[in-house]
Amino acid sequence: MPEIPTIMLARSRVEAPVRRELESRLTDALAARGGGRLVITAPLYDLDSEGPSVARLRAAGNDLIVLAWMAPRAIFGTLAQHGVEGQLGPITPEDNQEGTGTKEASTERMIWCFDLGQSAEEDEWLQRLEPMLGQRAEPAAPGQVEVLDEETHPRWYPVVDTARCIGCLECFNFCLFGVYGLGEDDRLQVEQPNACRPGCPACARVCPAGAILFPEHADPVISGHSEARPDPMQLDLLPFPSRPASIGQGDAQRDTALAERNACSEKSTEPKKSTTPPQSPSDDLDDLVDQVDDLDL
Ligand code: SF4
Ligand code: SF4
Repeated sequence: MPEIPTIMLARSRVEAPVRRELESRLTDALAARGGGRLVITAPLYDLDSEGPSVARLRAAGNDLIVLAWMAPRAIFGTLAQHGVEGQLGPITPEDNQEGTGTKEASTERMIWCFDLGQSAEEDEWLQRLEPMLGQRAEPAAPGQVEVLDEETHPRWYPVVDTARCIGCLECFNFCLFGVYGLGEDDRLQVEQPNACRPGCPACARVCPAGAILFPEHADPVISGHSEARPDPMQLDLLPFPSRPASIGQGDAQRDTALAERNACSEKSTEPKKSTTPPQSPSDDLDDLVDQVDDLDL
């Protein structure tokens, strides 16, 4: 029989009674059902990648069911950026999870992601989870509940859906704050998430593949609640400033993105992390010698 999955229930960052009530009722219902360890954490998006909650999930290694107040694509991407990787599990029989998931997960671990905003009924949640829990363990003894208290604060950073990302690096070139970097394999990575400007979603608008999510943004396309993709006409891979300005909605998207990015830039007091080393005094001397040579005296 397959290994029993861990169920992670990540609390809402919003102190809304209706949310807290569902979290509480669902915790009781899952504990009463048994057949899996239930881990309660702070809001998933706000967790520290180096904190105890993420460390606990990474160390577990078994299959994972994640219930959070975020779109499933955003849940999966956030976990991956926290270093909790796996294969995205289908959540309905007809769901092929097109456009989501990691391209090359290094583990066979299955991760099923659910947005708690989809239902306020704990019984409905038990039914939805039954295909994952039922084939793995008979409910017998009450399930164990582990509460991971971790102090968090609201964070804001891009989450990349790696299954959609085509590696064009428009986001890398567009961001003024050094949020993006390249890994050892020259793949895009969110290198400095905390350098992202709170409220700025600009790079999500310039991504030609719709691969950048901000889970707390009000626009469902940017939060990942909508599966909509950009117009394929925008899929030219020219550097962003030189993209033709005749592509329907792309114009408005570009203008909005530039305005948002520049507004963030004006507010910022921090210079962008430079990728070129500063000139040394000897560089200045070399430049001066070159200039004298050019005079051809
Ligand atoms: S702009 Fe989008 S598709 Fe291009 S590298 Fe960034 S995330 Fe990937
Ligand atoms: S462009 Fe704006 S939203 Fe995107 S990573 Fe940079 S600061 Fe954050």
